Amino acid sequence: MAILSILHYPDPRLRNKATPVMQVDDTIRTLIDDMLETMYQAPGIGLAAPQVNVSKRVIVIDISEDRTSPLCLINPEIVNRDGIETMEEGCLSVPGIYEPVERARQIRVRALGRNGKPLDMQVDDILAICIQHEIDHLDGKLFVDYLSELKRQRIRKKLEKQRRQTL
Ligand code: ZN
Repeated sequence: MAILSILHYPDPRLRNKATPVMQVDDTIRTLIDDMLETMYQAPGIGLAAPQVNVSKRVIVIDISEDRTSPLCLINPEIVNRDGIETMEEGCLSVPGIYEPVERARQIRVRALGRNGKPLDMQVDDILAICIQHEIDHLDGKLFVDYLSELKRQRIRKKLEKQRRQTL
């Protein structure tokens, strides 16, 4: 397994729309394992392939406290949304920034699992929020897009300043 490097906002590569996985093979499984390792090491609760510069529709999530319940979704699709919930979100591609975002409280998702078999699940609360956040990445969307232009500008400036300081 390998730790992959994570792209940071406002990297334009985060804006690409990822393509569906045609076949769940060993290449995809290696990608999933590397993404999980990268996510755990960061640490974060979710990671989408475009964040590690792979333009494929793959996401990994683990919201468990002991970090032992990885969930991986390939070609995920939200087929139903219900309710509204606002939660403070963060993102490994927007380090150190946490802002409230409004999303559906409950969703039904269809996807393929790590073994290539279809999954159909109904999830709510933090897992539903997390899945929506990660699927946005597959469409080139970031949580900062839900904020005001002014707030987004401030975040961009803050991250650029951080980057200069670490160089
Ligand atoms: Zn994110």
